[in-house]
Amino acid sequence: MAGILIVAEVDAGVLRPEYWELATVARAVSASIPGGVSVAVIGADVAAAAQQAAGIGPDTLHVIDDERLANPWPEAHAAALIQLCGELSPQMVLAPRSILGAEIAARLAVRCGWPLLQDVVQIEATPDGGLQAVRPVSGGAVAATVRIGAGPWVVVPRPRAFAPAAASAVAEITPTRHAFAPPPFATACGTPQRVAVQGLSVDRAKIVVAGGGGLGGPEPFTLLREVAALVGGAVGASRVAVDSGWVQSTMQVGLTGKTIAPDLYIAVGISGAIQHLVGCSSSQVIVAVNSDPAAPIFGIANYGVVGDCKEVMTAFRDTLATRAAQAGRAV
Ligand SMILES: Cc1cc2nc3c(=O)[nH]c(=O)nc-3n(C[C@H](O)[C@H](O)[C@H](O)COP(=O)(O)OP(=O)(O)OC[C@H]3O[C@@H](n4cnc5c(N)ncnc54)[C@H](O)[C@@H]3O)c2cc1C
Repeated sequence: MAGILIVAEVDAGVLRPEYWELATVARAVSASIPGGVSVAVIGADVAAAAQQAAGIGPDTLHVIDDERLANPWPEAHAAALIQLCGELSPQMVLAPRSILGAEIAARLAVRCGWPLLQDVVQIEATPDGGLQAVRPVSGGAVAATVRIGAGPWVVVPRPRAFAPAAASAVAEITPTRHAFAPPPFATACGTPQRVAVQGLSVDRAKIVVAGGGGLGGPEPFTLLREVAALVGGAVGASRVAVDSGWVQSTMQVGLTGKTIAPDLYIAVGISGAIQHLVGCSSSQVIVAVNSDPAAPIFGIANYGVVGDCKEVMTAFRDTLATRAAQAGRAV
């Protein structure tokens, strides 16, 4: 019987970054869950990703490498994971909170009748052989402490809630290969269209400059892009900006967008609705620019500027550009 099984999701041949955060969670609870730490690499042509996944030094490494798993097809990936769980009988399955990861975790939990803990920000094993976890609920307004009894459990940590584990220098591990033997599929997978992210992705940027409804249209996002370029950051957006068609959905921060934790988050013309804050409240420093001094975003911001977003951001961009030019001359 396996102890902890980490789902190593592969995206375009590369391990998703959440994998290293899952490894941190596994290490934190592995002493209390007998059976060691195993990794499941599921996809097509995943040899390189499996080698990378071995970097955390798991006790066993399991690979299902099959052409039918080339695309993020939930039914096929869930079938592969359910198959592996049947063969390995893990006590805990750790899956990333990506679109695919969250879905196959839910499918696994339903199919096996195992408790599912989504969006976990803290977790520990309890002396009675159960788990205690903390997860935000009501759009992040409340932190709920959840206790569950004996496993198996399916756990999906919140992105960025746990520090990524470093790869450790370990002895080579030979992956155990499993032939994919799914039941007949009820769905089919079309050809996925990969949306090219314009500029740096908000997920990993250390500085994010995000715009909301207060920008009034797509044009002021050019200003935000100029500021982001000057500070080496990414441009994000609220749902209003995305739903209005001003920017692409990959930029959305919040409950139905991305959860980010940059060093600096600059919220421009964003009101601070709870569904937005849940995606950015873990930022180290939040700066808000808003014309309404009573905007809720000021309740969470470390620094606030009350003013028109175009005026403030134009002045900010010009100051940054001047300093960059001076620094360039100094070199
Ligand atoms: C189930 C659910 C999920 C959701 N998920 C998300 C999500 O993932 N992300 C998200 O962002 N939202 C999400 N929402 C929507 C959320 O509730 C808010 O509607 C949204 O965040 C508001 O976006 P906003 O603050 O940019 O726009 P608005 O509400 O339009 O606020 C605009 C702000 O700009 C300010 N402003 C106006 N003019 C100027 C100016 N000239 N200069 C400076 N400031 C100005 C205003 O004072 C105001 O505070 C979700 C809602 C639901 C119900």
